[in-house]
Amino acid sequence: MANPLYQQLERDNDVLVLGAGVVGINAAYWLAKRGRQVTVIDRREAVALETSYANGGQVSVCHAEPWANPRAPWQVLRWLMDSQAPLSFRPRLDAQQWRWLLQWLLECTPARTRRNTIGIVDLALHSRELLKQQRQEHGLDYHQSSQGIVHFYRTESAFKAAQSVSHLMRDLGCNRQVIDTDRVLDIEPALSAVKRRIVGGTYTADDESGDAHLYTRAMRRVCESMGVRFVMQAEVQSVRAVSGGVEVALNRRDDIDLPTGDYALVRARDAVVALGTASTALLKPLGINLSLYPAKGYSMTVPIATDDMAPTVSLTDDENKLVFSRLGNRLRVAGMAELVGYDPRIDRHRCAAMAEQVKTLFPHIRAYDQTEYWAGLRPSTPSNRPYVGPSRIPHLWLNTGHGSLGWTMSCGSGERLSKMMLLA
Ligand SMILES: Cc1cc2nc3c(=O)[nH]c(=O)nc-3n(C[C@H](O)[C@H](O)[C@H](O)COP(=O)(O)OP(=O)(O)OC[C@H]3O[C@@H](n4cnc5c(N)ncnc54)[C@H](O)[C@@H]3O)c2cc1C
Repeated sequence: MANPLYQQLERDNDVLVLGAGVVGINAAYWLAKRGRQVTVIDRREAVALETSYANGGQVSVCHAEPWANPRAPWQVLRWLMDSQAPLSFRPRLDAQQWRWLLQWLLECTPARTRRNTIGIVDLALHSRELLKQQRQEHGLDYHQSSQGIVHFYRTESAFKAAQSVSHLMRDLGCNRQVIDTDRVLDIEPALSAVKRRIVGGTYTADDESGDAHLYTRAMRRVCESMGVRFVMQAEVQSVRAVSGGVEVALNRRDDIDLPTGDYALVRARDAVVALGTASTALLKPLGINLSLYPAKGYSMTVPIATDDMAPTVSLTDDENKLVFSRLGNRLRVAGMAELVGYDPRIDRHRCAAMAEQVKTLFPHIRAYDQTEYWAGLRPSTPSNRPYVGPSRIPHLWLNTGHGSLGWTMSCGSGERLSKMMLLA
């Protein structure tokens, strides 16, 4: 029996984009804009159903310092003793996990932190600019807000450390102001319940927020209007180099009738790997060893009534490492990092701890009982910098490993990758 995917797919293609999250959709868009014939392939029934589904919503360019920094190892050690801490780690008999941790420690030196911050901010600034252009050009609506992001601090030491990072950010072209508590409250009065615990903040007026899932869906429609084809529920099994291109083996996700190994084999001049955390396993047999590990995070989404005292400006609570984005009549809160392998299950205790912290900050929101919880795996590199560019296999390109800033960097990495492919 011929694999049914052959009815949807050409045997020979120009470009295949593997993965339809916020990163893959942007690779497809920018490649189509540069005249390539693009087909996007994803195992799920719709776009952005994995890590891009319910993230924190921040387009956080000017607060984009990497997780690996000189203060981080000490903070992590303290957190490991605390069951309620934003980070948790389950040691596993897994060489990938230990290698990743070691590489992460090496990225914590001042020199590497500076280099990584420069790289992230450069890509993120470019990305935010392109996002604004896309919004105007295509009339996108994804519950975006352009009111900036306030990052608030509860200890003098954290606030002081933020001031030196703010200097660096300003040197790199970011508009990041250090502000006192009164100004924090002027910008976001809904923080009044915890005013006395806030020692200061930083405000990045040019940063934005929005719903990455709605955005990716809207961009699918834009891409389709540009001739991009989407083949959903098609699982990529393997990729290999062939003369003048690559060959991808695929199967329908629900195909239980087919004999094992009866794949659809399709060729392309180029393929882009944008599979988030699944990129590592696909590329390993090709000898491409990505330093990419899942950092599980959680989000909660709460309905907001018009007269609830809820934030409208996007926020970051430094102590609890939580981010807040108002998405229309919902409040999205996200945070936590668990290094527990490829396990997307929701831990109810972690969610309850997050909900308690949010209720303390915003006690006047009424619909906490209608909260939706979600967990996603950030495709994290030790440096927080993504892989964007060629791989060691000709015609196979990488656009993955965007970690905690995939929404923030997605437009820029798609655009830069498409330019590299044009020049190759
Ligand atoms: C709790 C949390 C909060 C976050 N907050 C923010 C934030 O505020 N701002 C920000 O910028 N970033 C944030 N992020 C990070 C951001 O969400 C990710 O970096 C981004 O979504 C990664 O996008 P992606 O397209 O690389 O991966 P994904 O969205 O996971 O897309 C990968 C796609 O590949 C598909 N796929 C995988 N394997 C296969 C296969 N074998 N065959 C076919 N298809 C396959 C999947 O179905 C999926 O659609 C957050 C993440 C989390 C978890």
